[in-house]
Amino acid sequence: MDIHEYQAKELFRNAGVPVPPGEVVTTPEEAEAAAASFGGQVVVKAQVHTGGRGKAGGVKLASSPEEARAHAEKILGMDIKGFTVEKVLVTPAEDIETEAYVGVLVDRSTQSPVFMVSPEGGVDIEEVAETNPEAIRKVAIDPRYGLLPHQAYAMAAFLYDEPSQVKQATKIIGQLHDAFTANACSLAEINPLIVTPAGEVKAIDAKVSIDESGLFRLPEVEAYRDLDSEPASETKAREAGLSFVKLDGNVGCCVNGAGLAMATMDLVKYYGGEPANFLDIGGSSNPDKVVAALEIITSDPSVEVILFNIFGGITRCDDVAKGIVEATKRIDIETPIFIRLTGTNETEALEILKEAGFSAYTSMDEVVETAVQHAAKA
Ligand code: GDP
Ligand code: MN
Repeated sequence: MDIHEYQAKELFRNAGVPVPPGEVVTTPEEAEAAAASFGGQVVVKAQVHTGGRGKAGGVKLASSPEEARAHAEKILGMDIKGFTVEKVLVTPAEDIETEAYVGVLVDRSTQSPVFMVSPEGGVDIEEVAETNPEAIRKVAIDPRYGLLPHQAYAMAAFLYDEPSQVKQATKIIGQLHDAFTANACSLAEINPLIVTPAGEVKAIDAKVSIDESGLFRLPEVEAYRDLDSEPASETKAREAGLSFVKLDGNVGCCVNGAGLAMATMDLVKYYGGEPANFLDIGGSSNPDKVVAALEIITSDPSVEVILFNIFGGITRCDDVAKGIVEATKRIDIETPIFIRLTGTNETEALEILKEAGFSAYTSMDEVVETAVQHAAKA
C-alpha cells in the first residue's frame, strides 16, 4: 500500500527524523491561510501516490500566501501520471545547499532490507544508477541484528565530509531504519535529504510503501489508506477477501489458488492471449466470493472473455458453480464465460451449470485455448 508524502513524513517524524512542519489542505483558500501561518515562504506540493511530482509541475515554491493560493489553484485537480490531485501539502520553504538520497527497501535477492544512499539526490535514483552507479552505495541489513552503528556511520560518511553532517545523517539513517521496521514498510525513502546553509540535515520529501501483510497489526497505518488513490476494483477485491491484481489484457481470469492462477496466466500467454487480471478466489467454498469476483471482472471494460479455472480440493466445485449461476442472476453479464471445473463435487457442479445453460470443460488446455481464441476474435 502506498501512502502520501504528508503521511510518510508523520511516520518519519514519529521516529525522530527532522522533517519540516506542514499542513494538508484541499482548497486554494486553505493553502493561502496555511502559507500565512508559515510566514509566506512555502512550497505547495501535490499529494499523489507517485514520484516525479517536481518535474510534472506538482511542486511549487511560493514567496507569499497569495502566490501559494495561486499555485494551489493550479495544482489541485491536476493529473500526475494518472492520479488526480485532491490534496496539497503546504510546508515552509527550505534553503538548500545539497540534496542527497537515502532509501531502504526489501530486497528479494539478498532477502533482507537494503539501504541505498547517494550524495546525488533530488533526481531520480534510477537515473543516477544508470549514469553514475559509483555515486550509489548499497548496504544490506541482516535482519537478525538490524542496522549496525558502523553501517549507519559508513553510509553517512559516504554522503558527507563535514563531521557535523555525518553525525546528523548517521542518526537520521538509524531513525529511518526504525520507521521502516516499526511500520512494516517495503520501501522508505528520503529524496532529497538536504543540508541547509546553517548546516542542518533535514528530510524534505518522504516516500513510503507498506507491506499489506503487516497492516493487521498497524491500525494507525491502515487508516492512511486513501481509497481515491487506488483502483475501485482493488478496493472491492480487498473487501471481498480476494487477491486481485489488475493487468492490461482482455482475458478475465477467475481461479482458485495463487499457484493455479499463475499457471493459468502462463497458459493464457502460451496460447497467445493476455490476462486482464490475476484473481485468486481463495481456498474457501463461498458463492459470495464468486459473485464479487465476477462483479470486479465485468466492471473492467477491456475484458472480452471470462475464464474460470477451478481445481476443487477444499474449494467445492458445486459452490463455485452456484456462485456463477447466482452472479448471472444478480448482474447482467454479456461477456462470454468459459469454465473449467475439476475435482471435489465436479459432477454436481456440472449438473448445476448445465441446468443454468452453461457448458463446462474439464481440460485446462482446452478451456484456455478456446477462451483465448474467442478473445482474439472479439
Ligand atoms: P518529487 O519531485 O515528487 O520527488 O518532490 P520533492 O519533494 O522531492 O521536490 C522536488 C524538488 O523540488 C526537490 O528535489 C527540490 O529541488 C525542490 N524543493 C522541494 N522542496 C523545496 C524547498 O523547500 N526549498 C527549495 N529551495 N526547493 C525545494
Ligand atoms: Mn523527491
